[in-house]
Amino acid sequence: MTIQNMQMPDHLWRPITQHSTLSGITPPRMVKGEGVWLTDDKGNRFIDSLAGLWTVNVGYGRKEIAAVAAEQMEQLAYLAPMMTSDPVVDFAEKLQTMLGFEAHVYFSVSGSEANETAIKMARQYHLQNGKQGENRFKIISRYRGYHGNTLGAMTATGQAERKMGYEPGAPGFVHVMPPYPYRRHEKLTVEEHGAEMLTLLEETIIHEGAQTVAAVLMEPMITGGGVLVPPDNYVKGVREICDRYGVLLIFDEVVSGFGRLGQMFGHRIWGTEADIFTFAKGLASGYMPIAATVAKKHIFDGFLGEPGEMKHFRQVNTFGGHTVACAVGLKNVQIIEDEDLPANGQRMGDYFRSRIREELGDHPLVGEVRGMGLLTGIEMVSDRSAKTPLSEDRLNVLTRTAIANGIILGRNSNTIPGRCNVLLIAPPLVVNEEETDRIV
Ligand code: PLP
Repeated sequence: MTIQNMQMPDHLWRPITQHSTLSGITPPRMVKGEGVWLTDDKGNRFIDSLAGLWTVNVGYGRKEIAAVAAEQMEQLAYLAPMMTSDPVVDFAEKLQTMLGFEAHVYFSVSGSEANETAIKMARQYHLQNGKQGENRFKIISRYRGYHGNTLGAMTATGQAERKMGYEPGAPGFVHVMPPYPYRRHEKLTVEEHGAEMLTLLEETIIHEGAQTVAAVLMEPMITGGGVLVPPDNYVKGVREICDRYGVLLIFDEVVSGFGRLGQMFGHRIWGTEADIFTFAKGLASGYMPIAATVAKKHIFDGFLGEPGEMKHFRQVNTFGGHTVACAVGLKNVQIIEDEDLPANGQRMGDYFRSRIREELGDHPLVGEVRGMGLLTGIEMVSDRSAKTPLSEDRLNVLTRTAIANGIILGRNSNTIPGRCNVLLIAPPLVVNEEETDRIV
């Protein structure tokens, strides 16, 4: 049979999937979700140890959220984003209260849009508030980081596979290496490695010309790119470098926001704040699509002016601040707070990592078990001393075997084509010890 004649299971075009591998296969159709469990149409049950795409923080099947959505939909389903309704204003208020600093919230629909928005905000901010002679438009981000699929967010992304075929991306983007303690030079301590990567960042800003650099865009901890836990000195060091050169700092907290790393927000772990933050996944736990770009007061103030000055933020998202999504998001974050889900995530994440280290720490294919809160990466290698990445084919065998045993596992994106060797475990934050044991 030629590739063109292959029998496809249906007419759905799935993301990041080579459909020829689905020929003759009937992928399971999920019909129900409850807690950490998914059930397919044949009654098979799976633990979703990826929480969707690390999104469903409060777990599946929350009737109280469904009730809020239904009520809001009946009352007022949609409103133009320039207009005002209770759910939208209340959700923005709630977010800035949770963050604990004065800020304004711009809503959109996806993490990509939230980052795209942050990039545009940073550029316009500098244009309106920068020093004479400056032309700050460049965005520095990091290899292995993921920021989204739209042109700017994709260009900021540091993973080759996500960009192959779609380049050149947007102009004005520069990448630096992130700390990767497991693969640091053997002579360096983790802290020294962090300092080395900071020097690299600083030199990049200098060589690009600081007066051309608008912002550093980064996840506090690289998540989908392989769970790269930064050295303790790194995140704070980035903040200091940004301040030294008048560069804004944008934290992409699309994954790390709302409890995933064991605290409500990822940046709190490193005691460092950005100028602009982006959130999505855990913001409404996937019950509705919604994202937010949160700008601190000094950024927002840089957009104030007389009407004719055109200093306002000149972007609009038809579905940004969707009333139902905001009502749902509000209920979702209340649940995360009321049930103290970040703390449960921390407990279960620590428990998971200690169990995995106990059971598999000496396994010849396990290079390192690392993570924070309820996000764990297991770096798989074919040779422990040479740290040779396990081949993608062998990793696929692992994830397929896990699914056949009722466990949905994640794996990192192909940061380099053919090199994809970190297993990702990030179940909903409601996971309990028994379910964690099962994943182990
Ligand atoms: N930023 C990070 C850190 C992500 O992991 C993702 C998605 O996985 C995005 C941004 C993009 O979000 P979305 O897929 O909602 O556009």
